[in-house]
Parts: sequence; C-alpha cells; structure tokens
Amino acid sequence: MAVQDWNSVPTGSLTLSGAEAALPDHIRDFQATLRDFALKVMRPIGQQLDKMSPEEAIAEDSPYWEFRQRYLDLGVRVETLMEMEPNEAALLFSILFEELGYGDSGLAISVGAAILPQWISAKFGRMDLLEEFPDEKLGCWAITEPDHGSDMLDPNGKVSHPTGNYGRPNCVATLKDGSITLNGQKSAWVSNGVIAEVCILYCAADTGDGPDPEKGCVLVFPTDLPGVSRGKPLDKLGQRALCQGELFFDNVNIPEKYLLAGPEDYLRAVYCIHTEANALMGATFAGLAQAAAHLAHDYVHERKQGGVPIIQHQSVKSRLFHLFRKTEMARALTRRVLAFNNDPTNLEPSLCSAMFAKTTSTQTAFEVTSDALQLFGGNGLSREYPIEKMLRDARASMIEDGCNEVLSIKGGSYLYDPEKIDGGR
Ligand SMILES: Cc1cc2nc3c(=O)[nH]c(=O)nc-3n(C[C@H](O)[C@H](O)[C@H](O)COP(=O)(O)OP(=O)(O)OC[C@H]3O[C@@H](n4cnc5c(N)ncnc54)[C@H](O)[C@@H]3O)c2cc1C
Repeated sequence: MAVQDWNSVPTGSLTLSGAEAALPDHIRDFQATLRDFALKVMRPIGQQLDKMSPEEAIAEDSPYWEFRQRYLDLGVRVETLMEMEPNEAALLFSILFEELGYGDSGLAISVGAAILPQWISAKFGRMDLLEEFPDEKLGCWAITEPDHGSDMLDPNGKVSHPTGNYGRPNCVATLKDGSITLNGQKSAWVSNGVIAEVCILYCAADTGDGPDPEKGCVLVFPTDLPGVSRGKPLDKLGQRALCQGELFFDNVNIPEKYLLAGPEDYLRAVYCIHTEANALMGATFAGLAQAAAHLAHDYVHERKQGGVPIIQHQSVKSRLFHLFRKTEMARALTRRVLAFNNDPTNLEPSLCSAMFAKTTSTQTAFEVTSDALQLFGGNGLSREYPIEKMLRDARASMIEDGCNEVLSIKGGSYLYDPEKIDGGR
C-alpha cells in the first residue's frame, strides 16, 4: 500500500468529480474534455433554450443544432462503447452522462434518447440496424401513450391494480403474414419526438387475437416512412432544452427488417431498455446535483451579509456539506449499478438496481437544487441566476422514465420472495 503524505496540512480538496480515486489517464482526459464542453457549450445553450418557446427551440436557427453538432464532434459513438471492455464501458458511460448532466440535464437526456435506438439494437445483436442508423441519426424512444403512462413501463403488471382495466392501447402494430402495419399514436412526452430521424417504438402487437399488453413488439425505423407525422413541441416546466412531442401513425407499412423484438421477446425488451434508461438517468441527475452543489459553493463564498461571507455561518457550512454528501452518494451508487449491470459474469442486469440509481439520483437532484436555491436566498428565485432552472429540471426527472413512487413499488416487487413466507406455502 502506498504511503500517503500526512506532513502537510490537509486541504480537504476533492477532484473534478468529487471523491474520485485516480482514473486511467485517457478516462481522466475524457472527463476533463466533457467538463469543458458542459460548461462552455451546454450550460449557455441550455439556458438560452430554456427561455425560448418550444417552437423556437427546435427551429432551424435554434442553438440546439449547434449543441448537437458539437456533441457529435466529440466523437463518442455507440459502437465504440459496445466494443470496449465492459468495466471500462460502464465507467465511461457513467462519466459521459454525469458530465452532460452537469452541463444541462435536458440536453443530456436529448443525447440519451438520441442513442437509444442504436444502443438497444446493439444490445440485441442487431448491428445491421446500427449500420443503417449511425449515431448521426437523431433517435427517440416512444413507449408511453395518451391513455397509458406508468402501465406501459409495466407490461408484466407488477404495479397494476387488481381491479384495474387498462383498456385499449393507443398504438398497435398488426403483425400478419410477414407484414407489419402500424396505427395510432404515442404520447406528447416522447423526448426528441418532434425532431427524431429514427425511432425505437414499443407498442402492443396484434397477431390475430387482438392486442395483449404482455405481448407487444419493438420496432426501429426511420421517421420519414409514409404515414408517420408529428405533433407540436410540448411546453413544460423543466428540461425545456429537451424537446418532446407526439408521433402519429396512419397505416404505416414497416419493413420486417425493422422488427427488433416480437411478442415473445417483448417483456425482455422492456426490461432491457428500462434498465439502461434508468441507469442513464442516475448518472445524468448525479451530474445535475453536483452542478448545483458547485454553484452554491461559489455563491456562499461570494455573498456577504454584514460584511461577512455567508459561508462563515455554521449552518451554511453544514448545508453545503450535505449538498456534497448527497451528490457523492448518488454518483457512487450509479457507478456501482452500472458496473454491476455491465458485468458479463452476471446472469442478467438488474432493473431493480437501475431503479435504485434513478430514484436516488433524481430525488437527490431535487433536494440538492432546492437546498442550493435556499442558499442563494432571493437570488435563487431569480431567472438571472441558474439555480431556479436546475430545480425545475430536477423536478421533471422524478416523473421521467417512470414516476419514482411507481418505480419503488415495481423495484420492491423484484425483492419479494414468496419462499420466505411460511416456507412458500
Ligand atoms: C421529462 C420527461 C421525459 C419523458 N420522456 C419520454 C420518452 O422519451 N418516451 C416516452 O414514451 N415517454 C416519456 N416520458 C413519459 C414518462 O415515462 C411518463 O410521464 C411516466 O411514465 C408517467 O406516466 P404518466 O405521465 O402518464 O403518469 P400516470 O401514469 O398517469 O401517473 C399519474 C400519477 O399516478 C400515480 N400512479 C399511476 N399508476 C400507479 C400505480 N400503479 N401505483 C401507484 N401510483 C400510480 C403516479 O405515481 C403519478 O403520481 C417522459 C416524461 C417526462 C416528464
């Protein structure tokens, strides 16, 4: 074990991302590049987009497109991540979304949604789809519907009400004699829905006996197929840099090569994307929490009351401590979950663990941004300062990718072991 130097006075300083043990040089450099990108590109563009109307935010001259191009210029590609050694890939994935979340969580989620068609296709071994839809093709994930939110993320009914009747799906793919026809619509919440070039769609499948909620299908297809149209971009409270909107399907003929998972694989496919997406949320919102903690750290050193910087107050020091403590906790948990879920010696990735990461990081981001805002006093409420936006962004995350309370019920159901009750009788 290396001997540490205890002769100089400890400064208590932390690294770029907090209590981070030494990283391999290339990963440390990657982290520093991303931090620079987060601060110089994402933060200002995210703030601009936040103040625009949803239509302006996706217009041709919107700064969103500058962000998109500069993100692509960083050269991070799904294929590269897939080819890496699993432990390293997990660490890089986590650092990528932590840093994007540090810059702007709405834009980070836009990147996450953009790669989901490619990411899940690769997880299912469909490298041909990755070739047809490289990372430059902006993606979206359409699963929720106007009448089906929480239940679409729960096709095996782990949280459904015993007396509930979940009714007809709003979107159905008819699979018949080797042809696929898509009809209906997805909800106004599809991230990137109004600008995406490729979509990974999860919907009910009708193979002849009517749609069955447990037997859906997954399609990956270009959004310029005849019969696909889009709704208006959604106006909302937080993550306004992330555009959202409906997709409509009118007798869309989907070539069979775009079928990623059929009815027999549907539950596995929902489990897979939900596990990936919840872990991605965990990393992104750990990053947002850290950004708010850092802004609060700067502010309490600058702001004076009675000629004294407010950091001199014990209560302020203690509140600052808890912002950093919670941020470290969210990041550490997410890294651990990603490492576990990427470990090839595991029988399967754990959705329950990904839900630990998602619910912890988003709850943490909400608490940290709210407590950071309190440290800013009245200035925290002003749109001249970045904290109120971060609080709004964090608030949205507690609903996104599954409401936290629903995720904890569903996660808890994976912990339920009937064998432990009266010996399984
Ligand atoms: C920022 C953001 C991004 C999103 N991105 C996408 C996307 O890319 N693609 C996509 O398809 N969708 C997306 N969504 C939709 C998101 O997945 C849904 O909003 C979420 O799953 C909840 O569904 P809902 O809004 O219909 O709420 P509902 O399901 O109607 O829930 C309303 C309330 O009822 C409670 N509730 C519902 N069912 C239960 C239950 N069984 N047990 C206990 N309580 C329950 C919930 O906790 C909640 O408080 C996004 C949402 C947001 C906010």
